[in-house]
Amino acid sequence: MNNNPLILIVEDDNHIKNLISTTLKVNKYSYLLATSGNEAIMLAVSHKPDIILLDLGLPDMDGVEIIKNVREWSNIPIIVISARSDDKDKIEALDFGADDYITKPFSVEELLARIRVATRRLNCMNEKQVESVFKNGDLTIDYSAGCVYLYEKELHLTPIEYKLLCLLSKNIGKVLTHTYITMEIWGTTWESDIASLRVFMTTLRKKIEQNSTESKYIQTHIGIGYRMLRIE
Ligand code: CA
Repeated sequence: MNNNPLILIVEDDNHIKNLISTTLKVNKYSYLLATSGNEAIMLAVSHKPDIILLDLGLPDMDGVEIIKNVREWSNIPIIVISARSDDKDKIEALDFGADDYITKPFSVEELLARIRVATRRLNCMNEKQVESVFKNGDLTIDYSAGCVYLYEKELHLTPIEYKLLCLLSKNIGKVLTHTYITMEIWGTTWESDIASLRVFMTTLRKKIEQNSTESKYIQTHIGIGYRMLRIE
């Protein structure tokens, strides 16, 4: 990705569209605008943007259809911008390959922070010297390759799910607070980040706990945070 990423804004609401485009312009990002799903797909194919900001409620199709279409040919980061506050919709969007989401109404700072996360390379935090392959029960993380395996089968995680899993695995046995985790993942600690964290934890768990009815790897400490358990 170059230093001046091209961002495709997909939004049919004039007020929000203007807010986002003005924010991007002031912060020296290049952008394209689409107000319908068909236009969004055409612009994504023809201009290969570096990031897509996607509204889910569009006049001609559900935003999820755009995620499915784009994921057939590209890994462009997709940040969903949605008025839907229902976690089910967010989880569906993430399951189909969105990378992150913001709930309306959002602040300009929040939007810019999410764009920075998407543009940054999502490396694992490597402060301490760590083994390059982590094993816990049937879960294996190859940090240098950036791959995760369960029962020797590779799992497809979004960048944020991967980062979350690395953070928990590198602190195995320790309870990490919501604030600590959101600071490490998004660099911010808004209330909305904690809500996002819950959603990403749900999608991550669905992937790594797929053969188990109870949480084997990740323990929830209600009101505090999460911890990865060591499997004996
Ligand atoms: Ca809309």
